[in-house]
Amino acid sequence: MPKPRIVILGGGFGGLYTARALRREFGDGAEIELVTAENYFVFQPLLPEVGAGSVTPIHATSPFRFLLKHVRVRKAIVDSVDFDAKTVTVFQGVQRRPTEISYDHLVIALGQVVDLSRTPGLAPHALTMKSLEDARRLRGHVIERLEHADITNLPEVKRGALTFTVIGGGFSGIETVGEMAELIDRSLKYYPNVSRDEIRIIVLEFADKILAEMPDTLRAYAQKQLEKRGVEIRLNTGIASATGTQITTTAGDLIDTRTVVATIGNAPAPVVARMDLPLTQGRIAVARDLSVPDRGNVWSLGDCALIPMKDGAEARGDFAPPTAQFAVREAKQLAANIARAARAEATRPFAYTSKGAMASLGARRGVADVMGVRLTGFLAWLLWRAYYVAFLPGFPAKVWVLSHWVLDWVTPRSLVNLKSHTPPAARHIHYRAGDRIYEQGNRADGFYTVIEGAVEITTETPQPGQPASRRVGPGGHFGERMVLGATRRVATARAAEDTIVMVLDREEFMKLADAIPPFRSYFEDHLTEKGLDWPETAGRSNAAE
Ligand SMILES: Cc1cc2nc3c(=O)[nH]c(=O)nc-3n(C[C@H](O)[C@H](O)[C@H](O)COP(=O)(O)OP(=O)(O)OC[C@H]3O[C@@H](n4cnc5c(N)ncnc54)[C@H](O)[C@@H]3O)c2cc1C
Repeated sequence: MPKPRIVILGGGFGGLYTARALRREFGDGAEIELVTAENYFVFQPLLPEVGAGSVTPIHATSPFRFLLKHVRVRKAIVDSVDFDAKTVTVFQGVQRRPTEISYDHLVIALGQVVDLSRTPGLAPHALTMKSLEDARRLRGHVIERLEHADITNLPEVKRGALTFTVIGGGFSGIETVGEMAELIDRSLKYYPNVSRDEIRIIVLEFADKILAEMPDTLRAYAQKQLEKRGVEIRLNTGIASATGTQITTTAGDLIDTRTVVATIGNAPAPVVARMDLPLTQGRIAVARDLSVPDRGNVWSLGDCALIPMKDGAEARGDFAPPTAQFAVREAKQLAANIARAARAEATRPFAYTSKGAMASLGARRGVADVMGVRLTGFLAWLLWRAYYVAFLPGFPAKVWVLSHWVLDWVTPRSLVNLKSHTPPAARHIHYRAGDRIYEQGNRADGFYTVIEGAVEITTETPQPGQPASRRVGPGGHFGERMVLGATRRVATARAAEDTIVMVLDREEFMKLADAIPPFRSYFEDHLTEKGLDWPETAGRSNAAE
């Protein structure tokens, strides 16, 4: 019997723990492959601490190659799934070459993304708290605001710099604000021109309570603790709009602020939205055994799946919450069900009762409700840390995090703000004659203009009336189909001579098109000449792949 090939898409809690559980279920009896955009696992509950500098970014992560022995790890971007052919297409390598992976069982664990596009101005001006890069950026941003406030002579600039706003009073919002307040309070003695009473830290929560999943007493404690430390909590208040210097609340108040951290706005990952799958509330509607109905050996779990906890749950809205705690339990059940399916046995429904919830409030305070035991203050905070360090996958990560925490008790928080290099959105690239710029089928992510030299564009699939090859010289451009949302190149581009091109990222291209009407109408006409329409959906968007 050939070994079943099980492919897992996504390297978050759902993907990692499914890979581990499958390995336990099957041993060497299955080929297990994890497809992940990054080569490391991020322990998301530690992100607020990374954002406040008590844990460094690299230590809140672990490389998959340490965590997953005997599981093939493929660093690649998932593009699409052909459920009939049972293949996944991914983009991998420097050239983002499309590669097909076949599967007998497919596990979709691609999480969700942040989409702030529903609130005017929020997407371009807000910081988010979902990825390691977000947490790293928040820490640098807070330190920069303190640096700026310390030297400015303009009161309105100082006011904006020293007002820190967090949108959302759920777990990630409250933990982020608690940690951020601690970073600020512990740093102030190094900024002689900033006093504590000039600082405002605000949480906007649209509901009438923070930490909605917590019992009333713990919620009240958390609110009182934060307020005692100078955090203003505005309930029944959301964000209506944002600019680079101000936000407007749904109550009509204007707040001068240079820091808006949005912990709201979950949306399906674009790749999941593109799949031919039933989505309910933006998540993949799975059956109780975590299988995707009518797709044959396709399964889903974690934040991207809507998992009914009871039969007929649709009517009662009883679904598994999108938490790491649940994703880890779902992973075990999903792996056991794949093993049952492989043995032609009946699968079993996912069942799990939450063991409770904990939140760190920063400054060595927390709240915990674990198996009916309710704790507040230092003990709850200590329990939070002990639990997470025990749960953190990988021994080296546990040692590093623990040692950071111990050192954090006796040393000041570092205020070093290293700038990480991000490639410019518009950049020059040099090619020698004959070099391949991209190949037909590669992932499309930029727009090209020839500065010097010439580029030969050839296609194996010319449109009616279009030539199979053309030459583009200085001032000419190519690759503009990505405006249409095309994820793949429809032609191959090679340097016909020694050539310099300028490459512009899709996001920047779309911003220019949005801002400069002649730029947009030039490309609208250009696409029309090719028999293509400028898409209605082209424009402002921040939902990342
Ligand atoms: C700040 C914060 C604090 C939290 N604290 C807690 C907590 O204390 N307790 C708790 O239980 N839960 C907590 N959560 C929630 C928890 O982290 C999530 O529920 C959990 O991460 C969901 O796991 P997942 O595998 O479904 O999705 P994710 O962890 O989001 O993983 C999805 C993976 O898919 C990958 N991916 C997406 N698109 C592609 C693509 N096209 N190609 C390749 N890969 C792709 C992503 O890179 C990612 O690795 C917290 C979340 C945040 C943001």
